[in-house]
Amino acid sequence: QAKADGRGSLRFFSPEIMQRAKERLSLEAEMRRALERGEFRVYYQPQLHLGRCEVTGLEALVRWEHPERGLIAPGAFISLAEESGLIVPLGNWVLQEVGRQMRAWTDEGKAPGYVAVNLCALQLGCVDLVDAVRAVLDANRLPPDCLELEITESCLMADRGRAIETLETLRGMGVRLSIDDFGTGYSSLSYLQHLRVHRLKIDMSFVRDLETNPGNLSIVTAIIALGHGLALDVVAEGVETPEQLAHLKRLGCDLIQGYLVGRPAPAPDAIDLRLGPGHPVAELLRA
Ligand code: C2E
Ligand code: MG
Ligand code: MG
Ligand code: MG
Repeated sequence: QAKADGRGSLRFFSPEIMQRAKERLSLEAEMRRALERGEFRVYYQPQLHLGRCEVTGLEALVRWEHPERGLIAPGAFISLAEESGLIVPLGNWVLQEVGRQMRAWTDEGKAPGYVAVNLCALQLGCVDLVDAVRAVLDANRLPPDCLELEITESCLMADRGRAIETLETLRGMGVRLSIDDFGTGYSSLSYLQHLRVHRLKIDMSFVRDLETNPGNLSIVTAIIALGHGLALDVVAEGVETPEQLAHLKRLGCDLIQGYLVGRPAPAPDAIDLRLGPGHPVAELLRA
């Protein structure tokens, strides 16, 4: 029973908390079933290389195709999947699905240069991650550099020693690494010296109002300079407007990703995206 609602006192098991706990439990159970029933999908979003004016790779983004509620974005279930540990089997499924898809694309003669897969702290702390990655590459006869792993700064904070060791092993195998949502974590920059990554991805919160916010313009300029100083490629996320693209190009950003180039889409649509003459982005880059 809830405690009397005195000032500063705690109320245990209020109806709202009970309700939320129930919802979480049922969502968790539903996710487990969804994984068994094959309701998850991998969508792919293009990354455009500005210098080459071509899509050089894709980011894999998980979706839940719920039989009643329709397509559910990861924002609604990834954090619960992390808390419950379900992210480990789900993340493994994503890796396997990406490997299978890369093999199929390779057989069709249209493999992208690489596919980037998101990892969370729990997956990184898992002893079997290296084995899981190796197994997927071997099973599908894929070169390690066709796989990129995206990690966030906070994911390195969780279990620094172990995480860095795991990532070093993966890098040693030839897998590419990138730092996602760069600039939004609380971590210091020193890890960039211990862990050699290939790319920095500028978080979309800095890209959003690049045209009008001088603070964000400074941050983006600084991240690009930092990346290039460390010989890393810099990718800007969440690019939606021609103005943002123009700024990023002028600042020397290497790649962009965002709705302007293409939304996350099922494999066949993502791979058939062409930026030939007539595509607005191609025209902008030529200008
Ligand atoms: P993220 O890795 O930073 O992915 C970028 C997010 O920005 C994606 O959201 C993408 O759809 C969205 N986005 C891309 N371009 C634009 C744009 O121009 N405008 C706007 N407004 N949004 C854009 P999504 O797919 O909902 O994924 C959200 C987050 O969920 C991802 O952020 C990633 O952290 C996580 N996630 C997705 N798939 C996986 C997965 O397989 N495993 C793990 N561990 N996390 C995943
Ligand atoms: Mg990502
Ligand atoms: Mg991001
Ligand atoms: Mg994110």
